[in-house]
Amino acid sequence: MKSVKDYFGSLVFDDRVMKSVLSAKVYASLKKTIDEGTALDISVANAVASAMKDWAISKGATHFTHWFQPLTGITAEKHDSFISPSPDGGVIMEFSGKELIKGEPDASSFPSGGLRATFEARGYTAWDPTSYAFIKGKTLCIPTAFCSYGGHALDKKTPLLRSIEALNKQALRVLRLFGNKNVKRIVPSVGPEQEYFLITKEMYDARPDLRFTGRTLFGAKPPKGQEMDDHYFGVIKPRVAAYMEELNEELWKLGILAKTEHNEVAPAQHELAPIYTTTNVATDHNQLTMEIMQKIAAKHGLVCLLHEKPFAGVNGSGKHNNWSISTDEGQNLLSPGDTPYENAQFLLFLCAVIKAVDDYQDLLRISVATAGNDHRLGANEAPPAVISIFLGDELNAVLKAIETDTPYEGAEKTQMKLGVDVLPKFNRDTTDRNRTSPFAFTGNKFEFRMLGSSNSIACANIMLNSAVAESLKIYADRLEGVEDFETALHEMIKKTIKDHKRIIFNGNGYDDAWIKEATENRGLLNYRTTADCMPHLLDKKNADMLTSHKVFSISELNSRCEIMLENYCKSVTIEANTMVDMAKTQIAPAVEAFTADIAKNTVAKRTVSPHIACEYETGLINQLSGLTDKIEKYADELKNAVVALGNAKDIIEESELIRDSVLPKMCELRLTADTAETLTAKSYWPYPSYADILFSVK
Ligand code: ADP
Ligand code: MG
Repeated sequence: MKSVKDYFGSLVFDDRVMKSVLSAKVYASLKKTIDEGTALDISVANAVASAMKDWAISKGATHFTHWFQPLTGITAEKHDSFISPSPDGGVIMEFSGKELIKGEPDASSFPSGGLRATFEARGYTAWDPTSYAFIKGKTLCIPTAFCSYGGHALDKKTPLLRSIEALNKQALRVLRLFGNKNVKRIVPSVGPEQEYFLITKEMYDARPDLRFTGRTLFGAKPPKGQEMDDHYFGVIKPRVAAYMEELNEELWKLGILAKTEHNEVAPAQHELAPIYTTTNVATDHNQLTMEIMQKIAAKHGLVCLLHEKPFAGVNGSGKHNNWSISTDEGQNLLSPGDTPYENAQFLLFLCAVIKAVDDYQDLLRISVATAGNDHRLGANEAPPAVISIFLGDELNAVLKAIETDTPYEGAEKTQMKLGVDVLPKFNRDTTDRNRTSPFAFTGNKFEFRMLGSSNSIACANIMLNSAVAESLKIYADRLEGVEDFETALHEMIKKTIKDHKRIIFNGNGYDDAWIKEATENRGLLNYRTTADCMPHLLDKKNADMLTSHKVFSISELNSRCEIMLENYCKSVTIEANTMVDMAKTQIAPAVEAFTADIAKNTVAKRTVSPHIACEYETGLINQLSGLTDKIEKYADELKNAVVALGNAKDIIEESELIRDSVLPKMCELRLTADTAETLTAKSYWPYPSYADILFSVK
């Protein structure tokens, strides 16, 4: 058997391949483009394209595609073959530098939020050399950004790259203030932990709700759920183990550093975490991972559910975005250092994050907002929709000491050297784990836990990078050129702590008392739904910040707000229509058939014995008839609520109708049908039950 070392990255045109197939001159020139963002000369592009094509063909590829991430949330590709006719009737395999650098997909069917209408119908894709090309099936995939002809971003990669650049620029200014002259680049890194469910294909096929919407819209609670906590980190079943093994192999071939896998809290729920890497690559890898997870599942007769809340009453799936920033020399800027000076620098970066999260709570909430994730945030398993930061006891004590000008008295292991320098010295904290915080400091990185399992991590990182860039810009503007740097720095840190300590919370984020405290006393935002938060993307403070760092233009923000709200409305509308259909054509008839059979039996019994009470039968008939009437009534009301969406004057009003009338009606209908499920004989019920589905993989 081949060892992992031998096949890791075998389908990637990575640095090893580039070094071996490109001339030294071409390699050096490409490397400069990758590392420093310099423009690529067309002759170099031609040489790279030709080498890439030969390498891809040697791996069995026949086609190439510009692989991009439109605003649908998934990736898109349009395949072209390498063939070109030759005069002798045969073909030659061709791929030019021009084809590598730029593509022109007919992209008119991708969402643009009105952007393309005002400019050009077509868009173009542009090669992103900082993410390696790779082979999927028989196709060479070239990671690209996707823009309109007017230069407007129509994808998630473009603003992500811009936000990385904004962060780099401002962080470098701050580092220079600390006397660091050698660092060339600052890069944010991310390790996304991905949760998912695995169920059998038979179960999936038998549920229209899963097939059409990715989640169950009906389903009574199973007798056994996650009460026993026996699934978390439990023994992995053979069929799941076989799946994970093949998944790892495929990911490794693509150079994806799949590292950790385990069972999650809910039955049938699992997690996969890669080793962290630069944000741009991590984002591409996570998109690929989600795609391959589904593909491999199909090969095993399974279906991988990436929806945030496939099952009501059972834990949903999220994605933890572990985020840090480091220098090109490998120094992690969120890692406490050994000297007071390093610690001062660490504290300033820490403060930049605290300030960013407080000032832009709304943007972070918006970055994870989808119809699916709304079911999760605030349920008793995921962080609430209120954003707060967990820092751990030691850092908290340090910040308190600075804020109040009191000596810092850390735990035994910490060495307090206040007086040696302006800021206290403390050792690296092995922060205890707080699993309920939406934004937790975990020693040398922040873990943003509000992302939904199907979210692209691009959105969250765009907002995070931009907001932190803004804090750093304010710091650099203030500190550049001051006479007494240390005093100014101290004051700056102190002011940040004073102004933003309301966002720090080390207690239990699932507690209702916290939500009250957060919203009533601390004035933190609590946007429960996508409809509540999304319009705030365009608030002046947010638009000013994002445009000033050139992450988005105003028209791009408008288009994104529109597309996100459209996605929200469309997802819920499809769910509502699916529910009406299931209720009317299968659930009500099933309950009715069962009721009718009981009635028939009652009559039969009474023919034998006229005075028999038939309490069981009449009781059930009454209950079930009542429920069928209600199912029919609620289904009609839901249908009308969907029809009424047509009267909304714009997408904001439509999203409010979804929130205020459609979703509540869906709950009503569901509750009634679920009650009927608990009273109807199993043989009559048209769908597999929660227990059937959740325990389907043996
Ligand atoms: P958990 O206990 O939450 O599962 P782990 O320590 O296993 O956390 O790490 C989870 C993720 O965080 C992994 O993807 C890991 O690679 C990533 N990670 C670790 N260190 C860093 C860092 N400095 N920056 C970004 N991500 C990191
Ligand atoms: Mg984690």
